[in-house]
Amino acid sequence: MPTDLRLPTDSIVKPDKDSFLHEENPFEAMMSRFDRAAQLLDLEPGLYKVLRHPEKQIIVSMPVMMDNGEVEVFTGYRVLYNTSRGPAKGGIRFDLQVSLDEVKALAAWMTWKCAVVNLPFGGAKGGVICDPLKMSAGELERLTRRYTMGIIHTLGPDSDVPAPDVNTNERVMAWLMDTYSMHHRHTVTAVVTGKPVEMGGSLGRREATGRGCMIVTKQALKHLGIKMQDTSVAVQGFGNVGSIAAQLMVREGCRIRAISDRTGGYYNKGGIDIEAALKYVAQHRSLDGFKGGDQITQEELLTSDVDVLLPAALENVITSKNAAKIQARVICEGANGPTTAGADSILDEKEIFVIPDILANAGGVTVSYFEWVQDRGGYFWSEDTVNERLNDIMCRSFADVLKLSMQHKVNMRTAAYMVSISRVATVHRLRGIYA
Ligand code: GLU
Repeated sequence: MPTDLRLPTDSIVKPDKDSFLHEENPFEAMMSRFDRAAQLLDLEPGLYKVLRHPEKQIIVSMPVMMDNGEVEVFTGYRVLYNTSRGPAKGGIRFDLQVSLDEVKALAAWMTWKCAVVNLPFGGAKGGVICDPLKMSAGELERLTRRYTMGIIHTLGPDSDVPAPDVNTNERVMAWLMDTYSMHHRHTVTAVVTGKPVEMGGSLGRREATGRGCMIVTKQALKHLGIKMQDTSVAVQGFGNVGSIAAQLMVREGCRIRAISDRTGGYYNKGGIDIEAALKYVAQHRSLDGFKGGDQITQEELLTSDVDVLLPAALENVITSKNAAKIQARVICEGANGPTTAGADSILDEKEIFVIPDILANAGGVTVSYFEWVQDRGGYFWSEDTVNERLNDIMCRSFADVLKLSMQHKVNMRTAAYMVSISRVATVHRLRGIYA
């Protein structure tokens, strides 16, 4: 019999009413959604307490020799939020905005994300405070190797498996894999995902997050009775997620009216030529100077006259300040945490159908899972097989969340948290508390 972790229900902590005051603190944003779902699930207080705390938080100071001969000391984090369902899984970001609170929130989101698509993984996240755009390849390599050494005791195919995230890529994953393998005296491909295909990466991994966004948007539009062919879209962020989602949505018949990257936004009512925008970015490294549309601000992009809004850049872009002005019927959260908790109720009032981040952008970690499976089996799949299996998992997960949202009359975000928290909770109950 599973251990009963039930305690008196009155020890459940109620969501903090003032949490909107801290609407940009990602950990609080995550916790306020978690609290709501936990209450609806009537989660027993013992388990509630367990799931509010990260299992492990590592902070490392990393001296790195810079190209000018001076030593810089960088700070990095790795947070393992919950590993009850399997090895910790989650990306590593290099960014000046990184903080322990942010990494904790992102590690929790990874836990819920892996559970909502039912992967046998827990959740983790890593981050290093740095400005990679100002660093040379040599400096980035030394930083990556030193960071890997700082967290090497947690890493491993059975314990903690990183992947790319903001400002990290296949190359960074290759250095991480090499550093880990050197110290283990043999090549361990499955210690990291999002690697180059030549060294154990999976076909389709690079496109997976954007592809997943397209798949769930298609499911949402189908549910709402809107034809994909008649749909206009605005995409914020033209990196790995936004640009691929835009490209795939065009292939499904959508018209992309607005795109943006960190240099600004572009609007074309008749539809932006996405292939031309991709070519432009390949040549110029950003959209700066792109002539395929009128220039608009990020704020104008978010509130533009489209059916679907795809925020695929950073956190906290849809807030209580701009949510009322959003015209889209569907929001597909390609980024992690693009909507603040304060904006949720406004979007609900406007009956905007939000596909929450933990579901919408789960395509990336799903193909990371495929990569880990392929590495461990030493047998690699065709791109068609990867895409087909990704499609199955995304459609099934969307259906699971939609069903619960209709049953409980809650929005898709709350339903997604309910699906994942109950999956994590079930495993905790079965495993019991080790004493
Ligand atoms: N960084 C990605 C995410 O936030 C991918 C994580 C992974 O593949 O482990 O979902």
